[in-house]
Amino acid sequence: MKKLFLSLSVLTLGFTFMSAQGASSLTGKIIALDAGHGGGETGAVGYCGNGGVTVKVLESDVNLAVRAELTSLLTSAGAIAYSIGQLPTRKERVADAESVGSDVLISIHHNGSSNVSADYTQSFVTQRNDKEFAKYIHPRIASALGLTDKGIKNDGYGMTVYGSLPGILTESYFITNTTAACDFVNYQVGASNTRVQKEAQAMYNGLLAYFSR
Ligand SMILES: [Zn+2]
Repeated sequence: MKKLFLSLSVLTLGFTFMSAQGASSLTGKIIALDAGHGGGETGAVGYCGNGGVTVKVLESDVNLAVRAELTSLLTSAGAIAYSIGQLPTRKERVADAESVGSDVLISIHHNGSSNVSADYTQSFVTQRNDKEFAKYIHPRIASALGLTDKGIKNDGYGMTVYGSLPGILTESYFITNTTAACDFVNYQVGASNTRVQKEAQAMYNGLLAYFSR
């Protein structure tokens, strides 16, 4: 009798452990993450400061930072965050994502303008399954950052043009905006609750909701 009781306890413990591990809708999902530009191409360039010391912020670095934060969140939830290679063409990047059997694709970009005050959230889609996917991702980014929401634009633009993966190209904010550039500098020196973390968390929440639908 005592022996039976012991093995039942072990079983119960085993089930508790397994359900905690398997609780996420993201478990086993392959999320392809493209950090826009890279490979010697910087994308938009922003500047923090005026007069004294001015720090240059490259869009390609911001894209990589958001990908790293999102990768960490996804990995903790049991998903496989696949970093797409910094390949020269968008078509090659999509092919890279498809070659590993990805479920969805997020192409992470940040916007640029010669007007350092410009700042809003926008996303781009092309195909029908992109539109379904984007509805889960874009509104959460816009809400997390609290900037003007310019919505999801249907455009034959970026990586969503190629292949058949549900995908979205995000331009969550303007890195040329002075406040945004300084926010990234703060992130680099270890600040929490910066735009990078808010954006990655919003994308994570969107992915969780998409795979729970
Ligand atoms: Zn870009």
